[in-house]
Amino acid sequence: MPACVVCDEVVTQPLCASCLGRGIASWLQEKRPARPELLLQLEELTEEVLAPGETTCIRCGNPMGLCSACYTAHIHAWMARSLPDLAGEFLAIFSLDPIFAQKE
Ligand SMILES: [Zn+2]
Ligand SMILES: [Zn+2]
Repeated sequence: MPACVVCDEVVTQPLCASCLGRGIASWLQEKRPARPELLLQLEELTEEVLAPGETTCIRCGNPMGLCSACYTAHIHAWMARSLPDLAGEFLAIFSLDPIFAQKE
């Protein structure tokens, strides 16, 4: 089984950073419609960690190397700085079950 390039955990529910990022972006847009610059920052953060790897994203089929937990932690660190009031809610929605969060 392929493992995450950062935490070395086996990736059981592979969703790449760009697919997860899209789910986060639509949530963020709903929460902060007046701050489009946040979406740009999110996009940059996502591109930073788009590491290719041996895993294939179950949604878009692109190769990926970072597990969803590491990606979520990466975005959460940013959110804790930029949007501390939303950081807790973000973690509650996206860290428990990223696939569920995608479905809405
Ligand atoms: Zn990981
Ligand atoms: Zn994907």
